[in-house]
Amino acid sequence: MDFPTQLFIDGAWTDASDGATFDVIDPSTGELIAKVADATEDDVRAMIDGAAFAQDPWAAMPAVERAAILRRAARIFEERIDELAQLLSREQGKPVAQAIGEWQYGIGFLDWFAEEARRVHGTTIPATTSAKRIITLKQPLGVTACITPWNFPSLQILRKLGACLAAGCTMVLKPAELTPLSALEIARVFADAGLPPGVLQVATSDDAPKVSGVFMADARVRAISFTGSTEVGKILMRGAADTMKRVSLELGGHAPFIVFEDADMDLVHREAMAVKLRNMGQTCVSANRFFVHESVADVFSKRLAEAFAELTVGNALEGGTDVGPLVEEAALVKVEAHVADAVAKGAQVLLGGKRAETDTESRLYFEPTVIRGADETMLLAQEETFGPVAPIFTFTDEDDVVRRANDSDYGLAGYFFTRDLNRAIRVAERLDYGTVGVNDAQISAVQAPFGGVKQSGIGREGGALGIEEYLDTKYLSLGGL
Ligand code: NAD
Repeated sequence: MDFPTQLFIDGAWTDASDGATFDVIDPSTGELIAKVADATEDDVRAMIDGAAFAQDPWAAMPAVERAAILRRAARIFEERIDELAQLLSREQGKPVAQAIGEWQYGIGFLDWFAEEARRVHGTTIPATTSAKRIITLKQPLGVTACITPWNFPSLQILRKLGACLAAGCTMVLKPAELTPLSALEIARVFADAGLPPGVLQVATSDDAPKVSGVFMADARVRAISFTGSTEVGKILMRGAADTMKRVSLELGGHAPFIVFEDADMDLVHREAMAVKLRNMGQTCVSANRFFVHESVADVFSKRLAEAFAELTVGNALEGGTDVGPLVEEAALVKVEAHVADAVAKGAQVLLGGKRAETDTESRLYFEPTVIRGADETMLLAQEETFGPVAPIFTFTDEDDVVRRANDSDYGLAGYFFTRDLNRAIRVAERLDYGTVGVNDAQISAVQAPFGGVKQSGIGREGGALGIEEYLDTKYLSLGGL
């Protein structure tokens, strides 16, 4: 498959102005996939120039016409989904079936925001005198800079891009350096769908602070939309202060998964498998702490370990693979450190706990792992593990488990399982998370507002609120009537 590797500036593919490139590696095999252009600061400035030039005509285009471009792009993505999924799996490492699911979910956001584009409207408000009228307008913020992570190389972009374009904003995108190829394919598809030059610009680089420094210094960039770690989110929020950019931040998570004694254990098991192993545990909403009532903890642990033992670990592109590689060596080192720390503090490894051997050259595979006897002193209770590790904590009391589940700086997603309706309402209201799954851990839905509280972020993506991140409200006061 041929795929773009150059910068996308004003609708054209160009090398970096100094000719520099960086390598993109297949984590399944360790092979070089491509050398991709590394944008210079001047290149990024040129992209902001182009986006600023394209902004007014794009905002002035009728919403139905902008929506039609989103829909056309969605249909092209659908036609090309198999090859796009292969490319995504190659650069990121998730099994192809999951990569297809990721593209489909992203396409859903394009269709959703194509509909929402037509519903952006202001209000009229009764004035205090008959000589006045009060009207509000919703207007696009303007040029948006967008920085995205590697774990969902297409979804994280399409969710932002759908809302941004529907609102009438232009975007300069810096995708993750580990996974720039899906981002460049997105630019190609939108160009094929008739997106005017300049409305989307893509600045690939493996020097993120260089690119974001240009974004931050430029007052024409009115918003920063970021998905990634809390640490980087804080850097960007500080940087945005100087020119008072709107920030929209989707940051880290540390999801609790609580199993009460009356839960439907078949359902618990299905949801635990899905939420822990999707993308090899490298998701912001992955269950990081399994709090299981003492009376069902043995059954739960044994069944999870038996199911994990059945999984096939291997090359993401091979059919039959359930669990692919982690994305890079640093990710493995972190997972190993979390497991070693837990064991040193008294936890027991029921299954896994070490790198997996496969028939590839890559050393980036980790065995699906189940750990009993986890407690709050362990690193895996405090930091995102971002790997296929399920640590099991036990509890006996509802108040105690809610307090422990909330004992985190993060507040992205949390899950719990019970058949008791009163408890379901009580616990759902008390969990400090932006999204709470009640007897459900597969919470992705285009029509729902997704986002975090506490240090998991600011703002919401998806749903009717998603487009608001890219809109300002103007108040018109009409007098002299
Ligand atoms: P990361 O913060 O290291 O990188 C994310 C992006 O920021 C990348 O494009 C990277 O190049 C860029 N970046 C890195 N340092 C930067 C800097 N100093 N200035 C500007 N940009 C910089 O995160 P990651 O490792 O790519 O992704 C994993 C993290 O993302 C996890 O914490 C995960 O929970 C979080 N995440 C959150 C969500 C969500 O929706 N809340 C979704 C997916 C991932």
